[in-house]
Amino acid sequence: MSNVTSEHADAVVVGSRIAGAAAAIAMARTGRHVIALDRVRFPSDTLSTHLMFPAHVAELVRLGALERVLAHRPPRVRHVMLSHQGVSASDRFLPVEGIDFGVCVPRPELDHALVETARAFGAEVREHSSVTDLLWDGDRVAGVRYRDKDSDEVREIRAPVTIGADGRRSVVAQLVGADRPYRGSRNGRGFVFWYMDDPKSDDRKWRETYVQWRAGGTHGMVFPTPSNRMLVSFMGPADRVALFRRDTQGMWERQLRENRRFAARVAGATNITRMRGTDDMVSFFRRSSGPGWALAGDAGHFKDPVLGQGIRDSLRHGRLVGEAVVRAGDDGPLAIDEALRAWEKERDDDCLPAYHWGNRETRIVGDDPLVIEALRTLAVDDLSEIGNAFSRRRNPEHVFGFRRSAGWLLRALSRPDADRGALLRRALGELLIDVDIRYERLLGHFRDSRPARSERPGWSWPIRKSQVALNGQGGAGSTGPAFVGGTMTDGVGNGTQDGSR
Ligand SMILES: Cc1cc2nc3c(=O)[nH]c(=O)nc-3n(C[C@H](O)[C@H](O)[C@H](O)COP(=O)(O)OP(=O)(O)OC[C@H]3O[C@@H](n4cnc5c(N)ncnc54)[C@H](O)[C@@H]3O)c2cc1C
Repeated sequence: MSNVTSEHADAVVVGSRIAGAAAAIAMARTGRHVIALDRVRFPSDTLSTHLMFPAHVAELVRLGALERVLAHRPPRVRHVMLSHQGVSASDRFLPVEGIDFGVCVPRPELDHALVETARAFGAEVREHSSVTDLLWDGDRVAGVRYRDKDSDEVREIRAPVTIGADGRRSVVAQLVGADRPYRGSRNGRGFVFWYMDDPKSDDRKWRETYVQWRAGGTHGMVFPTPSNRMLVSFMGPADRVALFRRDTQGMWERQLRENRRFAARVAGATNITRMRGTDDMVSFFRRSSGPGWALAGDAGHFKDPVLGQGIRDSLRHGRLVGEAVVRAGDDGPLAIDEALRAWEKERDDDCLPAYHWGNRETRIVGDDPLVIEALRTLAVDDLSEIGNAFSRRRNPEHVFGFRRSAGWLLRALSRPDADRGALLRRALGELLIDVDIRYERLLGHFRDSRPARSERPGWSWPIRKSQVALNGQGGAGSTGPAFVGGTMTDGVGNGTQDGSR
């Protein structure tokens, strides 16, 4: 490699979307020389919805990125509603660090706002730059080698710390030998979604509410987005994604038949984009730090998106890893490594409750009397705390755990048509998971690979390459969507193009 351009930085970040931009901001705003690389050019789409609760928005505030995100004029969503078989419970979000609303801004705009914020704080964000190798000093990562796709030049950056924020298929994880997660859980749900004009754009109640209607094991969800649009998605059995791909129209109509309240919400929607989705969402934790390196965001940890928590965690722990590097400062490599390890432990402690909750929610349970009783109770409870669970103000085991679920069970058992045996078996299964989660927390073992009861066995690694956008050429890293509108009455329109706007 004789003709390779080489330079130095205080830190190099691989991947510049959520976790990468957050890490770059945290370091650059203290004057560090940070170079963040990404193989795409922004604004760029990626295969992800973008539901953000107040805890997500609070992270945007901490990063100084909120103003740029709000420039897209998203509705400020102040309520969450869960509904099953006609029983609904709503909750108004309580403030997280003064923020009492969520926003749902499509990824091209959201990620671009973060990249621009990183630049404004002095980070150098280089697009069309694809990392291919790491540089090593003995067993220590000492920087990266990358290809500038515009000039086709290979370049090197030497730095005391390299942060891999390069997503689930992290190249950095592969190159440091941490690719195979030490724990994981198979997903049971698949995800399909569209954007469309909101037929209820004048109705403040709907524009300020995230809603999930459950029917027969599938969640139908509607999230208001900027420009009077909405994101509409189904999370049902993973094998249905292939059916959606083969017969989008037929499957859409089937969901509308099975989920009448969802159908009423979306009836009349127009300008429908093409469908996008995935059936491949293994949850995992990877070893995420070592000499001179760390894995932030999805590169180190991923959980089922059924709860919409990944962006918050990637923002938060991207920022925190950057702050850990800054704190270790000029105290030398060992201080950096210790700081990275402590950061990883803190991330795990923070993310494990949502990981278990996501694993539980990805199981397909058909129409569920326990959920119905829970919603019936929460609907009249001033302290339902549904919003607090999604906002991470409260552990999910507190909100949905055995103390409260004992009451729901008793009510479900008292119904004349109750299948008591099935209910008791199910409640026992949930109780064992709750106990196991508490036991794990009590042990507090770092990088614990003991299989947990929330985890679904049978996950495989590496994750399949089939993680593609359906009905089109998009997918992770694809650039902006073309758009052709369709019209929908009570069925999906013939809009077959990609696009969030
Ligand atoms: C279907 C789905 C729906 C989701 N919905 C939600 C939701 O509603 N709310 C929520 O909070 N979370 C959601 N998530 C989770 C969320 O998408 C992730 O947690 C988040 O994108 C992680 O951000 P990241 O920066 O770690 O990784 P990514 O967003 O994956 O970004 C990684 C970046 O690294 C770059 N890169 C990769 N390799 C290289 C390389 N070799 N060189 C240079 N650059 C490289 C890529 O180009 C990319 O830009 C969802 C996830 C999925 C799969």
